[in-house]
Amino acid sequence: MKAIVIEKFGIENIEVKDINDKSDGIPVKITMAGLNPVDYSVINGNIMYGVNPMPHIPGSEAIGIAMADGDYIKRGDRVIIYNRIFDGTCEECITGNEHLCVNGGILGVISNGVYRETMNVPERNLFKIPDSIKDELAASMGVGALTAYRALKTMNVEPGKSILVYGAGNTGIFTVQLARMLGLEVYAVSRKNDLQRYGINVFNNVPDDFKADYIVNPLGGSIFEDSLKHIKRNGKIVTFGILTGREAKIDIGNIYANEIKIYGSTGGTRKDLFELIRIASMNDLYFPFENAFSLWDLKDAITEFKNRNTGRILLKVS
Ligand SMILES: [Zn+2]
Repeated sequence: MKAIVIEKFGIENIEVKDINDKSDGIPVKITMAGLNPVDYSVINGNIMYGVNPMPHIPGSEAIGIAMADGDYIKRGDRVIIYNRIFDGTCEECITGNEHLCVNGGILGVISNGVYRETMNVPERNLFKIPDSIKDELAASMGVGALTAYRALKTMNVEPGKSILVYGAGNTGIFTVQLARMLGLEVYAVSRKNDLQRYGINVFNNVPDDFKADYIVNPLGGSIFEDSLKHIKRNGKIVTFGILTGREAKIDIGNIYANEIKIYGSTGGTRKDLFELIRIASMNDLYFPFENAFSLWDLKDAITEFKNRNTGRILLKVS
C-alpha cells in the first residue's frame, strides 16, 4: 500500500513509499484528506507535541470507505475518521473528554496518519457520513468544522447575542455559519465580503467602539489585545490557535472588573462530532473549496497552501 512518508522533517523530504499496516481496526480505503496547519507543522517538525514514530506518515483529517463490517459500521459505508487517539480509561476519557486523553493525542502527530491508500482504524473512531453530506464537506469536518463547533459550545453561546470572529479561513468559515445557525448576530473580521450573502456582517477592521458578547480568536497572540478591546462586560472569549504568536499582554484588572471569561478549546469530542454531522446533514454549510490535488502531489499542494488567500486544499487519494 502506498503512503506519504517523511524520514526527516522538511517538505523536501516528502516521499511516496510502499508500507505494510499491521495495526488493528476496520480497514478504510482513504478517498479524500484535508491539509491543515497541523499537517504543515508536522511535516516541518515545528509542532508543540512530539511527532511519533519516525519515519512518519503525516495527515490528520480524512474520509474513506469502510472495507469490512464492524458492529455499527458496515462494509461500503462512507466514514469520517475521528482524529484523536485515546485510551478510553483515563479520567478525561471516562468523563467524556477523550480529546483531552492524558495518554492520547492527535492522529498523524503522535501516531502515523491518514496520508495513504488504506488504513486500519478502530471502530470507535469511525463516523458514518449521511448521504446528504458531500465528500468535500465531510473531509473538512474532522478538524476545521469540529474545532469551530466545539469552540462555540465551550462558550455556551446564547441566541440573540452578538459574536465577533477573527478570520474566516479553515475554522472561521465554519464558526460564522454555525454561529448563525445557533441564532447569533455574527460579525467577521475578514477580507472576504462574499460572507455577507450568508447573513454575516463583515469588517475589514473592527470599529473602535464596537463590542460583542462573544469573541472567537483562532489567530493567537497579536489579536488577543484587540479581542479584549471589543468584548462586552461579562463577555466570553475563546481561543484555539497560535498562528500569530503564543504570547499576549493582558490587563488583569480589565478581566476581573468586567467579569470577562477567557476559554481555551481544542478539536472536539466524539459527541461533538456526532452532533456536528447531524447539524451538517440538516443545513446547507457553505464550503470554500479551493483546489483538489492528488495526494501524491503533496509537495505542490503545500506550495498552494502557503500561497493561498481563501478556501482550503483537499487531497484526493486514488
Ligand atoms: Zn484517556
